[in-house]
Amino acid sequence: MHLRGVLLPAGEPGELWVVDGLICTEPVPGAITVVDGGYVLPGLVDAHCHVGVGPQGPASLPEAAEQAAIDRDAGTLLIRDCGSPIDTRPLQARDDLPRIIRAGRHLARPKRYIPTLGVELDEPALLPQAVQEQAAVGDGWVKLIGDWIDRSTGDLAPLWPDDVLVEAIAAAHAAGARVTAHVFGADALPGLIAAGIDCIEHGTGLSADTITEMAARGTALVPTLINIETFPAIADRAGKYPRYAAHMRALHARVRDTVGAAVEAGIGIYAGSDAGGGIAHGRLVDEIIALRTVGMDGAQALAAASWASRDWLGVAGLVAGAPADLLVTRSDPRLDPNALRDPALLLLRGRIRGQ
Ligand SMILES: [Zn+2]
Repeated sequence: MHLRGVLLPAGEPGELWVVDGLICTEPVPGAITVVDGGYVLPGLVDAHCHVGVGPQGPASLPEAAEQAAIDRDAGTLLIRDCGSPIDTRPLQARDDLPRIIRAGRHLARPKRYIPTLGVELDEPALLPQAVQEQAAVGDGWVKLIGDWIDRSTGDLAPLWPDDVLVEAIAAAHAAGARVTAHVFGADALPGLIAAGIDCIEHGTGLSADTITEMAARGTALVPTLINIETFPAIADRAGKYPRYAAHMRALHARVRDTVGAAVEAGIGIYAGSDAGGGIAHGRLVDEIIALRTVGMDGAQALAAASWASRDWLGVAGLVAGAPADLLVTRSDPRLDPNALRDPALLLLRGRIRGQ
């Protein structure tokens, strides 16, 4: 097939062909033109999504497939799964579902994360071994819970000592995996960043110092802004822990400044919806819109959910030989991301979806 339109990110009129599911940049005789006009961009990327987490905890595999299908129909064709309690490898074999880069199971400690979702380590010193185990079954990412409420003190607190983090992150890197961590507060960040973590999820506790350090080291940030919007509701439900509740409200109140400072510092920021559990699947466009409220311009916010995120994850965009995973919008999605909600064409592995 043949597509003609404005190709993103270049922003120039151009043409693409699709042969055997792959993008071709040379004319293909006899190709049928399926799109003429509009904006052609690499399929959206949800850099923080949970396929296999349901409202009540672990989902069944058919439920997980349904979640991935909802994301796909909303334009997400590549998912970095940021921790799942079930083995979703069978979904990777399905050519009708988005590509999934799995991080295995969350690594946490007893009573220091949502029950039933993560692997709960009795001793922090077990982390390096657990990281190696998750790296062996994942797709190049390992997910740590960096901080969570400590009910004995009634506030957010780090889960891991700094020396354990150094060893654990080195073990992941030696196994060829990158590491990311869920972090809401400030206290866990210096140790994680100094240990060489590759990405921070949420990052609401970032300060000028930790932002400077992340920028210097090239540590990425996936702020999941539409999840941060739920912090006041989390605080409302945490009446037994007033310090924690106040802390969550304060983190929420300054999130635009916090993430805005990270944008300004040039940190690599990627769009993640945090779908699964509290956030519905299929809401990535809402996150793109939210990123525009913290200082990213229209092209940056779109890049954070498409080509820039693909580069970061090592997955090709609209280049010759790459799988044809792409969207065509009727109007410029850099000017209005809502154009992504009703694409003129969605191609997954070179096949037209939803028509
Ligand atoms: Zn998450």
